[in-house]
Amino acid sequence: MNVTMTTTYGNESIAIPVRVEVDQYLIPSQFPSRIGNVYTLTFNHVTKCWECTCKDTTHNHNPRCKHVRRLAAYIQEQEAIQAAIQKQAAAIAQAVAAQTALETLEAKYMQVTAREAELQATIARQDAEIAALRQELAQAAAPREQTTATGENLLTVAVQALAAATQALASSTAAKRAPTKAKGPVIEEVEGALMVDGYKVKLVGVMPMFCNCPEAELKQCKHLRAAERYQESKGK
Ligand SMILES: [Zn+2]
Ligand SMILES: [Zn+2]
Repeated sequence: MNVTMTTTYGNESIAIPVRVEVDQYLIPSQFPSRIGNVYTLTFNHVTKCWECTCKDTTHNHNPRCKHVRRLAAYIQEQEAIQAAIQKQAAAIAQAVAAQTALETLEAKYMQVTAREAELQATIARQDAEIAALRQELAQAAAPREQTTATGENLLTVAVQALAAATQALASSTAAKRAPTKAKGPVIEEVEGALMVDGYKVKLVGVMPMFCNCPEAELKQCKHLRAAERYQESKGK
């Protein structure tokens, strides 16, 4: 066997068993005169013991030759190393799990914080909307009062103006009629006649001919004369 199968502990050279099967190891001789010799150790499943091919075993029938003792120690070392590695791996796994849990918690915290900020922003936005609506409502209510007041004022002004206009019209009509009445009879043109102070003066062509007043039978009445003057003034 051409394998490096020794290691050094302090000043002592110690053989390192090499596993060739689950139940078989090779181990080099530690005797300087037997350097290069390699013994095979095989596990006997019946006796539950390791069996060596060295002379101490084959000639002296020593069941615990130094190779068997070395292998037992080596297996214990390996198991201790494996246990240490597993312990370390478990610790690492635990640390990783703790880290992951922490990161998950941090992520959740961030989510909650973000959601809270979002909610606060929503509340602030809604507050602003409510404030704006209140202001709008207040503004909408105030001008309505003003409009009502103005409307009432306008109505009052309109009523007053209408009253004034009616009075002015009445005065104007009175003023127009007053001189007519003062100067002479009231004459109105109708179909084929003139109405003079309420009496009908019939026209023949343009000439006033008959009045229907009680005086007209007896003499030429004032209505007929007024009608003649009226027609003359029209003819000019
Ligand atoms: Zn041996
Ligand atoms: Zn008359």
